[in-house]
Amino acid sequence: MTRAQRTALVGALLVASVSEAAAPPAEVRQCLTQRLHGQQSAAQKCFTALTRAASPYLRAEGAWGLADYDTANAEFRAAVAQSDGSALYRTRWGELLHERFNNVDAAGLFNEALQRDPKDAQAMLDLARVSADGFDNDAVSWAQKALAVDPQLAAAHELLANLAMEDNQPDLAAKEADQALALDPQALDAMAIHAVIEILADRSNAVGTGGGDQRELVTVIPPQGAVQQFLIGQDGQPAGGDAWWAKIHSINPAYGPGYAIAANHLILNRRYQDGVAMYRKALALSPDLWSARSELGINLMRLGQDEEARQQLAQCYQNGYRNDATVNSLRLLDTLKDFATFTDATTILKFNRKESELLYPYFHDVLTQAIDVYQTKYHMKLDGPVQVEVYPDHEDFAVRTLGMPGLGALGVTFGQVVAMDSPSGRKPGEFHWASTLRHEMSHVFILKATRHRVPRWFTEGLAVHEETEASPEWGDSITPDIIVALRKHLLLPVAELDRGFIHPTYENQVLVSYFEGGRICDYIQAHWGQQKLLDLVQQFAIPRSTPEAIRTVLGMEPEAFDKQFQAWVYQDTAALVAGFDDWHKQLEALVAASRAKHYDEVLAHADAVIALYPDYVYDGNAYQQLAEAAQAQGKAPVAISALARYVQHRGRDPAALEQLAKLQQDAGDKPGAIATLQKINLIDPVFDTDSHRHLGDLLMDSRDFGAARREFGAVLALHPLDKAQANYDLARACHAAGDARCAMDAVLAALEIAPDFRPAQKLLLELNGQ
Ligand SMILES: [Zn+2]
Repeated sequence: MTRAQRTALVGALLVASVSEAAAPPAEVRQCLTQRLHGQQSAAQKCFTALTRAASPYLRAEGAWGLADYDTANAEFRAAVAQSDGSALYRTRWGELLHERFNNVDAAGLFNEALQRDPKDAQAMLDLARVSADGFDNDAVSWAQKALAVDPQLAAAHELLANLAMEDNQPDLAAKEADQALALDPQALDAMAIHAVIEILADRSNAVGTGGGDQRELVTVIPPQGAVQQFLIGQDGQPAGGDAWWAKIHSINPAYGPGYAIAANHLILNRRYQDGVAMYRKALALSPDLWSARSELGINLMRLGQDEEARQQLAQCYQNGYRNDATVNSLRLLDTLKDFATFTDATTILKFNRKESELLYPYFHDVLTQAIDVYQTKYHMKLDGPVQVEVYPDHEDFAVRTLGMPGLGALGVTFGQVVAMDSPSGRKPGEFHWASTLRHEMSHVFILKATRHRVPRWFTEGLAVHEETEASPEWGDSITPDIIVALRKHLLLPVAELDRGFIHPTYENQVLVSYFEGGRICDYIQAHWGQQKLLDLVQQFAIPRSTPEAIRTVLGMEPEAFDKQFQAWVYQDTAALVAGFDDWHKQLEALVAASRAKHYDEVLAHADAVIALYPDYVYDGNAYQQLAEAAQAQGKAPVAISALARYVQHRGRDPAALEQLAKLQQDAGDKPGAIATLQKINLIDPVFDTDSHRHLGDLLMDSRDFGAARREFGAVLALHPLDKAQANYDLARACHAAGDARCAMDAVLAALEIAPDFRPAQKLLLELNGQ
């Protein structure tokens, strides 16, 4: 035996002893294996026997196996109290808590286990799983640490395969799954990942979509459980993803969790209908798989099928499956009762009743406009109306996005259902709702155009690109975080950009990834024309991977594209990056001068600060300070110019816009004032009754009576103090617009509140005279 062989042997023995110590004892493993292989009654007997064991740890395992979680929890507590040194008891107890949605205490137990046994690979893997639940990037490093300690840990490779698939890296996922299978030929979840890879490449009939352009031969193989239609290859055997399903069935004919894994990936890839179908498949095999049932309910809700969603979620709840997602979703379904619904042929709009009258006209306008633009651009029509739900309570919106990676952002699209924040749910000026709606509507069309096969980076990038296509003042201006990332050259290769959305490795990487995706689409349009973006859509519909699509459409390797694109974007932002530190210092000085009311100094220096970073429109920006100083010194034209540039660069503080409108009006620029006030409506129509009244008056003056009527309607919907005046205003707008009925209703409403209101009396006489 050579020295190397001896070392290897000792290593293997060490590993074996570590694994042995960390794994549950044989009598527990036996029960778990029976369950994994679908031998339910044997497993049931096995776990029941454990509940009669002398050791509290074994009784805990037995109770857990029988889904008696409270008893299991109590027994684990006793076991740990008796054997403080045991890492295994803590790991298993933590795994129970993880399964029962208590990640905080679970992670605590895993860390305690590691204190007792720093080489407890299972505890490391468990910590990886907890991290993975929250799309936390530590998941990968924990799984790798576990493998460094115990290279035999097949489950760690399974987890890494799953994580790679979340990042849309099928090659890496396949490699990890193969490594798991090499260690454990019966690693069912590794097989499921292989099946997922094939499904997402349309080489499987698992969601009943046939085999894409791959194979047409489909036949029926009825295994135990449900009848399956598998793809069959040349050799008469199941092919593609269905070969993997057939393999899973041969080991456990009723392995629901495999389909639940596939469902989860379909949902992550925005294939909501297919994901729902897959969850149904999982539940047909494993009706007690409550995690899958809960996900089914949540995704039915996302698709607008509220009734069945409620049934499925209630069933989970009644069976003790009460994780946050289930409970919050049930609560959300209840609050939807407070929503008002407006329907026409192409739109379904849902608002909270307290703001529905106000918001509907504005949202309906922007929505129908977006539908028109995209229909023309993509030469396609949607199937039926688009549903847009607008949540004034951000927490309700957050429930809608549960389990979605990255930032919940401001809006989210599920097929033809869009959920988004209401402008009233955010700080005034924090977001441009019209831009968000335009963004989400891009998703609606691109999802349909690509049959939901589009990679995340492209659909997000295109949606960001579309915001500024709608208007250069829509979309978001470059933030300091993005400049910092550019300075550090942190942009990702296009083929790996999905990772930046799903498993960010630094703060704000998700935002940087949105920026990068958007700039990629800007770049492609600017250098090759819009048609290339449409061609990419076609490629993703086939479906082709990002590298394949880039090769076909742009005729270059993705690496070559990265080089060219990144050179352009770094060049384009070079001055901004170079002047960033200087800008920071100068802005600080400007803020100090402004606070001290040294207006001459502000007037002298503000433009130099702006020139260094014109897109900085956030807190303490130079534009607003310049405007303030100019006004203090009676220099209205300077103030107007400062605020106009602020708006151009996507400054969104509604108070600043109101101020600009007033300055414009005072300077005799009524059309400018109207345009500015109309911009407030796209940012925050809830902000202020005065701005609606002001706009209404200006529109009356310029004889745009229909638009004036809408603004006076908005004043009324905001429950103003002077309701009589508001009704009278509405009445005169309706009268001028030729709607006698509306004018009469409104003038009577005004007089009901204030019978002596002279202008209203006069208008009533005039109306009666007609
Ligand atoms: Zn988006």
